[in-house]
Amino acid sequence: MGKRKKIAERVTTLMDKPQFIRNIGIVAHIDHGKTTLSDNLLGGAGMISMDLAGKQLFMDFDPLEQARGITIDAANVSMVHEVDGKEYLINMIDTPGHVDFGGDVTRAMRAVDGAVVVVDAVEGAMPQTETVLRQALKEGVRPVLFVNKVDRMINELKVEKKDMAARLGKVIDNVNKLILGMDEEKYKAGWKLDAAKGNIAFGSALYNWAISVPQMKKTGIGFDQVVDYCHEGKMKELAEKVPLYIAVNDMVVKFLPSPIEAQKERVGVIWHGDWDSPVGKAMASCDPNGPVAFMINKVKVDPHAGEVATGRLFSGTLRRGMELYVSGFGGTNRIQQTGVVMGAERVEVEEIPAGNIAAVTGLRDAIVGSTISSEENMTPFEQIKHVSEPVMTVA
Ligand code: GDP
Repeated sequence: MGKRKKIAERVTTLMDKPQFIRNIGIVAHIDHGKTTLSDNLLGGAGMISMDLAGKQLFMDFDPLEQARGITIDAANVSMVHEVDGKEYLINMIDTPGHVDFGGDVTRAMRAVDGAVVVVDAVEGAMPQTETVLRQALKEGVRPVLFVNKVDRMINELKVEKKDMAARLGKVIDNVNKLILGMDEEKYKAGWKLDAAKGNIAFGSALYNWAISVPQMKKTGIGFDQVVDYCHEGKMKELAEKVPLYIAVNDMVVKFLPSPIEAQKERVGVIWHGDWDSPVGKAMASCDPNGPVAFMINKVKVDPHAGEVATGRLFSGTLRRGMELYVSGFGGTNRIQQTGVVMGAERVEVEEIPAGNIAAVTGLRDAIVGSTISSEENMTPFEQIKHVSEPVMTVA
């Protein structure tokens, strides 16, 4: 059996255990390392060679993206991560970092419950950091922070051991100020980023290592040791001792909500229908046996399968042959195939239960933003509104 196929099997066994699912997006200002970080997570999940993580830019599989050297197409990937002997399914959506593609970030945020915000340790929070954070908070998506390029702080900026905490603290404070300014209530309710709690990790996506306070306790490697390894040029050794994907995925599992936890609140933000209706109740409890409520965040043409619609399933279960209503259209569309996406490949599965990110064919009337339901008159999800860039002075 191929490696991909094996991963697909593990993915499918976790799909109907929503408490073990995390739907996440990685968001960042351009060039802060979102793609390189995504590669690390894929490498950790065994989907690409770890040696290539950071060099392969796996998420950038679109030739147009490769030609431009930027990520323009939100790709969805499912992977399995183990924490304390338990397996979790992490559905990751890659989001574009370029300003022109802001609409895609918005769409991706609708499908996820949590976001890993990547900030370059040297540059700090930048205008698009603010934009993506605002979009996440507006959609009720909870953030954790990855402070990237710490290797540059040490080797290029020559920041000394004694100054590390203060320098990194400044980066964190600025991100926290943004969150506080955007949503004071959530900030006070525990969404504040706090290294001591563990919802921040620090590392180098290029060299595949990262630490967080919980990881420091487990591995004995803290900032002083990291500085030593960097000075001695022992990046590979450091990556073996404190692999990035463990620090980040552990943080995702621990601090970002499962669909069960998230949907209780998020449904109220993104849907304004009747909570007491069968579909309202099913979405609030992420019920796989309730009516289908599926929100499309991406439609892509596959050379073999035709139009593939990807989105978040908030309630019900998707199966081949189902007849579903598409908001804004009369009549139904029949689902032909149901699958999950792993980079450029779509892997077919028998059925997809509530709480997952699903890729289906056959929904010929679906467009980005469509609400798909087994109920004829389901109130559609709120329109996806894009928050534009803050005004910048162009030099
Ligand atoms: P994205 O635009 O946010 O997806 O950024 P990329 O992942 O494409 O990274 C932008 C550039 O920064 C690339 O040249 C990467 O090799 C480099 N880069 C990413 N992470 C790190 C890091 O941790 N350290 C250093 N020194 N460079 C990095």
